Amino acid sequence: MCDRLLAGSHSVVGLDNFLTGSRRNIEHLAGHERFRFIQHDVTLPIEIEGAVDGVLHMASPASPKDYLEYPIETLDVGSLGTRRMLDLAHRHGARFLLTSTSESYGDPMVHPQVETYWGNVNPVGPRSCYDESKRFAEALTMAYHRKHGVRTNIARIFNTYGPRMKLNDGRVVPAFVDQALTNGAITVFGDGSQTRSFCYVSDLVDGLFRLMQSNERYPVNLGNPREMKISEFADQILRLTGATSAVEFRPLPEDDPKQRRPDITKAKTLLGWEPRVPLEEGLQRTVEYFRAVIKTGSATPAPRA
Ligand code: UDP
Repeated sequence: MCDRLLAGSHSVVGLDNFLTGSRRNIEHLAGHERFRFIQHDVTLPIEIEGAVDGVLHMASPASPKDYLEYPIETLDVGSLGTRRMLDLAHRHGARFLLTSTSESYGDPMVHPQVETYWGNVNPVGPRSCYDESKRFAEALTMAYHRKHGVRTNIARIFNTYGPRMKLNDGRVVPAFVDQALTNGAITVFGDGSQTRSFCYVSDLVDGLFRLMQSNERYPVNLGNPREMKISEFADQILRLTGATSAVEFRPLPEDDPKQRRPDITKAKTLLGWEPRVPLEEGLQRTVEYFRAVIKTGSATPAPRA
C-alpha cells in the first residue's frame, strides 16, 4: 500500500511496532523523500504534524498463529488502536479506512458471503480475539461516522497472499510453499475439505485504493471469488513447485471456518473492481519470493519495489 501511494503523488507516514511485521519490507523506502517511518504502537497516543488527508488503519496481527500468540494485543489494536486512529482522522478532517476481515462472518452459514450477512462468530472461542476485535472496530468506525461525520470506509478482506509474507507466519500459503520447497510434509488441517479463496496482494491493494476514493460507508468485501478446498490447494502447490512432499493430515483447529468465498458484486458495481491476477501467476511470484528467502536464509529477502 505504501508503494502504491508513493507511486502517485502522495506523502506517506508509516507506523508499525513490528509485533508481527518486518522492517525488511520497508527498507527499500528508506531515503524516499515522501516517505517517513515512525516505529510506534498505534494503541498509544500519537500526533502527526502537518496536514493528513487519509488514515489507513491496517495494523493487526492477521495470521491465526500470530493472534493466538498475541490475543490481548490483537484485541487492543482493534479497539484502542482503532480509537486512536479514528481520533487522528477526526482531528485532521481526514478520510479513514479500516481494513476489516472476512472473519467478521465467522464460520459462515451464508455462502458465498455477502456484506449484509451478520455472521456466525463464537465470541469466546480461540479466534474471538481477532473476530470480535475487528467487529468492534467496524462498530467504532460507524459510530465515528454517525456521531462525528468522519468520512469512513470499511474493507472486509478475504484471504490474501503474495511476496513479503513471513515464511513462518503459519498461514496456509507460506506454510505449504515452505514445506514444498524444503521437501517437508504438507500439513493439511482436518480432512482438507474446508474451502478458502485466495487473492493476490496487488489486486487487494488496488481494491483498497479504489475504496478510499468512494463514499461508501458500509463494509465492502475485497477478495478473489475463486474458491478451492485446502486439499486441492495442497495439490496445486505440489504441481507448481514440482515437489514430491508427502501430505500429512493434522487436527483441524477449533472454529476453523468450513467455507469462505466473497460475493464481490458490491465491489464490482461500486468500485469497478475485480481481481486480475490468476492464482497460478500469483503463486508463481510468491514461490519465487520464498525460494529467495530460503536461499538467503533471511526471514524476508530485500523486496523488489
Ligand atoms: N491450514 C492447513 N495447514 C496449514 C495452515 C493452514 O491446512 O499448515 C488450513 C487452515 O486450517 C484453514 C486454511 O488452511 O482451513 C486457511 O488457513 P489460514 O491460517 O491461512 O487462514 P484462515 O483463513 O484460517 O484465517
